[in-house]
Amino acid sequence: MNCSYDRFIRTTDQDHEQQVRKIFRKLYDKGDIYKSSYEGMYCTPCESFWTESQLVDGKCPDCGREVKPAKEEAYFFKMSKYADQLIAHMNEHPEFIRPVSRKNEMMNNFLLPGLQDLCVSRTSFDWGIPVDFDDKHVVYVWLDALTNYITGIGYKCGEECDELFEKNWPADLHLIGKDIIRFHTIYWPIFLMALDLPLPKQIFGHPWLIQSDGKMSKSKGNVLYADELVDFSE
Ligand SMILES: [Zn+2]
Repeated sequence: MNCSYDRFIRTTDQDHEQQVRKIFRKLYDKGDIYKSSYEGMYCTPCESFWTESQLVDGKCPDCGREVKPAKEEAYFFKMSKYADQLIAHMNEHPEFIRPVSRKNEMMNNFLLPGLQDLCVSRTSFDWGIPVDFDDKHVVYVWLDALTNYITGIGYKCGEECDELFEKNWPADLHLIGKDIIRFHTIYWPIFLMALDLPLPKQIFGHPWLIQSDGKMSKSKGNVLYADELVDFSE
């Protein structure tokens, strides 16, 4: 399809990890991250917290065992502090979220009813980037995942950024699947506001490519592969 990338990035890259630790500390120091506790349904063998909606028939979606309500210490990001600023931005920039149906969904389902603070750390497992002033905790998960858009092009927290970052940020467009639109149009812009960085100009949430008999799935055998489409068009 004649597509290529400039840099292949994993969130385990050392430069990314280092920046996430600095970002977490910076946001904690300015009071946007605070310590509290996280409550959910816990599967002991899997060491995983689940929300009610993730459970399958009331059981752990990974192993199918019983779960029980549990609580753990966690850090939270004060989403509520920036909600009004984000609502104003969306209203002043109607092009910010496309299509407009997605904007309305975000506004009506999440922003206007009152934005919940986001849990940004876990202690129940140790894969992930440690919080550098509290190493029982690892950063979980959007603060780590989303910031690679800027660390990947040389954002340096509290220092002079690389030329590539100065040249390319803010992005003209984030093109993403509709199932992760909330993370990209609410949490991500708010993290950027907290870091005093400009927001991407537009976020486009595209629908899924589906087949006539529903979602594509390998087990159903109705998947379209890009390489086969290319062969077919040649
Ligand atoms: Zn389990």
